[in-house]
Amino acid sequence: MKNHAIKVEKQGLKVTQAADIKSSQLHLKADAVVVGSGAGGAIAAYELAKAGKKVVVLEAGPYITSDKFPEMLAVAMGTLYQDHGGQTNSAGDISVLQGACVGGSTVVNAALCFRTPDYYLKKWAKEFGLTNLTPAVMTPIFEKVERNLHIKTVGPQETSPGALLIGQGMDKLGYPQGKARRNIKDCAMTGFCFSGCTTDRKQSMLVTYLPWAVAHGAVIHSDTRVTEVLSKEGKAVGVKGEIIDPATRIKKADIQVDAPLVVLAAGPIQTPLLLLKSGLANSSGQVGKNFACHPSMSVTAEFPHEVRDFHGATHSLYMDQNTLPEKGGYILLNAIQEPVEASFLA
Ligand SMILES: Cc1cc2nc3c(=O)[nH]c(=O)nc-3n(C[C@H](O)[C@H](O)[C@H](O)COP(=O)(O)OP(=O)(O)OC[C@H]3O[C@@H](n4cnc5c(N)ncnc54)[C@H](O)[C@@H]3O)c2cc1C
Repeated sequence: MKNHAIKVEKQGLKVTQAADIKSSQLHLKADAVVVGSGAGGAIAAYELAKAGKKVVVLEAGPYITSDKFPEMLAVAMGTLYQDHGGQTNSAGDISVLQGACVGGSTVVNAALCFRTPDYYLKKWAKEFGLTNLTPAVMTPIFEKVERNLHIKTVGPQETSPGALLIGQGMDKLGYPQGKARRNIKDCAMTGFCFSGCTTDRKQSMLVTYLPWAVAHGAVIHSDTRVTEVLSKEGKAVGVKGEIIDPATRIKKADIQVDAPLVVLAAGPIQTPLLLLKSGLANSSGQVGKNFACHPSMSVTAEFPHEVRDFHGATHSLYMDQNTLPEKGGYILLNAIQEPVEASFLA
């Protein structure tokens, strides 16, 4: 079956929600249970289901269809984001945004698609023995995902007025202009990427890999937070969790899924927490440590004339000649912003 041949209706993704649950105990059996339905979970679910495995996906967040996405970021944060957008580090000085809904962060992200740089693939192979992730191994995998998610370079018509001005500055300084690649089909250029794409043009997991996984028999449960990975003789054998009604926050049921394969794809914060709570996979003592992220800071400029930078791709232009650690380790990227976004990047 060709991925692109599967038609996805707007309300068409079959998801079992808390409201559908009639008993207080659910006990399922599967070949694989996938925790989290974002970039990692959805692709794993699809590949496993396509290979003929019986797959159950458990997602802590709610199932929100794109026709319900609000265009106001402050409202979207309340429904689509982890901790209503208020997740921070323990010191409270870094805000860590994550999607928490069916489709995970891919529903609310800016659709900017970079490949993992060869520099890091080589470093991981050398320092951590991850020789199965070399550029030679990864290139065809990147190409496949790029085809499936319709990842294309932004066109001139998608470049915002602000990006054009930044581009002129880069030309003057002799900096090469990088053109963003995004997983968007026929972008409407409304700039509401962070609130979810109401027209399903952004090729998030909600409209790509999850429906494809379901078409191959995968079952998705939303409102279902996994609380423990079950193990026997040191091997994962399933998970336990709770189904919580998102409207009332009241527990509707306990759930257990027995499966010889457990895929943890709950993101870089919840996945290690789950392992720590389950007392698993920590012989190195490193689980939950070494968290790394890329903080974003904004640089703004005043112009003598009005710059209406609300129309265009959320990101269309970048300068990446200083990304390697020895060169400073940063990327300059244009961003169109509405006032709420401007305030959290300030
Ligand atoms: C606002 C924003 C903008 C971004 N922009 C970009 C961009 O332009 N380009 C880019 O490359 N990246 C971007 N990212 C990051 C990118 O989306 C993530 O790196 C990617 O989605 C991570 O995939 P993941 O599967 O690890 O986690 P996620 O996609 O975050 O999915 C994890 C899922 O697991 C669920 N979960 C967590 N705990 C549990 C549990 N105990 N039980 C069950 N489910 C659980 C969560 O609810 C969530 O839905 C952005 C992220 C955000 C938040």
